[in-house]
Amino acid sequence: MNIEIINTGSELMLGRVLNTHQRWICRQLADAGWIVTRQLGIPDNGPAIRDAVAEALARAELVITTGGLGPTSDDITRDLVAELLGLPLREDSSIREAIARFFAIRGREAPESVMVQARVPEGARVLANACGTAPGLVIQVPAGRLAPHGSWLVMLPGPPRELHPMFTDQVVPLLRQCLPEQPRFTCVTLRTTGIGESWLEERLAPHLPPLLARGLEVGYCARSGEVDVRLAGRGESGVAVVQQAEALVRARLGESIYGTGDDSLEQAVIRCALQQAARLAVAESCTGGLVSHRLTNVPGASQVYWGGWVTYDNQAKTTQLGVAPALLAAEGAVSEACARSMAEGARTRAQATHAGAITGIAGPTGATPGKPVGTAFIAVASPHGTLAKRFLNSYDRETFKQVTSQQALEMLRRSLLHGAGTPPAT
Ligand code: ATP
Repeated sequence: MNIEIINTGSELMLGRVLNTHQRWICRQLADAGWIVTRQLGIPDNGPAIRDAVAEALARAELVITTGGLGPTSDDITRDLVAELLGLPLREDSSIREAIARFFAIRGREAPESVMVQARVPEGARVLANACGTAPGLVIQVPAGRLAPHGSWLVMLPGPPRELHPMFTDQVVPLLRQCLPEQPRFTCVTLRTTGIGESWLEERLAPHLPPLLARGLEVGYCARSGEVDVRLAGRGESGVAVVQQAEALVRARLGESIYGTGDDSLEQAVIRCALQQAARLAVAESCTGGLVSHRLTNVPGASQVYWGGWVTYDNQAKTTQLGVAPALLAAEGAVSEACARSMAEGARTRAQATHAGAITGIAGPTGATPGKPVGTAFIAVASPHGTLAKRFLNSYDRETFKQVTSQQALEMLRRSLLHGAGTPPAT
């Protein structure tokens, strides 16, 4: 079955708004077993919208448009689609009432201009908008000149807070009723960190051909500091194929896999810390608190995360963490010795089982001989001693912070995998 998404919005074309609908709708459909075959972004312009909808109807059994249903002059999708399909627009009194209610609840009178949203192409189903005024519309286009196989055309409002509940609560149940049942789709995503995409593929590729021959689909998705391995199969046999592939990948990649699906690395760290009844602390310089921010994004972090420091200036490293001025003078703040001293100082002061520390040069300036921009030292002090590593993360400042925080979280996770032990004696 062909499924196409058309995201309308001049703001998308101008780079003012990120097209999150593309990702979000594809993900919702894939989770329900429908894979999108084509996606198009277009400006709010009549010919572009008309051509895009006509071309999609000629190919696809399901076409989803987003945006252009509102009351302003650039919201033209509804009118253009009605014209294209030769459907007159009729005012729907229940939508008019819903819009009037929406304004009344907010203590305002609805301006007449917003009532344009109550106009519905004849025969369209209306999807109530619980969070706004523009209803969604669903039109069954019969097999014919415009839609050779017959198509469902689903038109959704642009604002994500309106589109998301409408899609989940109304569109997905409707599609389950209307569309032919799809073969079962099984998909497992294994999340890895600390290994590169090519290295990862080299470790897996020689072992996959027998499973690929049985229908396994494999995908790799690399982001800053991590790579996902996606394993998918279709039909009833796909379940066993994906299970076997998962076992194989786990055996080959071991502890590099920190989670599955939507797990984040910080969730994995907190989970490990909870299992070990550990107590965590973090001392950060160049990541400016990002590691603490990520840890505290995880619900329940307070059970294991004690707190942290952002010690940017040398004096802060000395007064807050006890890094010796002589060490700073001899080795510099960006050094393995400094990272170790920060981690050990944090561990003692927080009475933590595990303390991470990060120091580095985010750039674009600040390089010194032997220490180029992107150099980072990360240390973890734990009951097993202090481990320190040097990294070279030559990226822009934001990516540097993201990747370095990832490496620090991964070092904490690896350390936690080997037991919590006890905090240092005072
Ligand atoms: P409105 O009643 O707000 O006019 P609408 O259905 O006409 O709703 P648009 O005007 O196209 O929708 O978009 C409204 C807002 O929704 C945009 O300004 C933008 O912030 C957001 N939006 C639209 N399309 C997308 C998209 N593809 N991804 C993320 N956000 C989007």
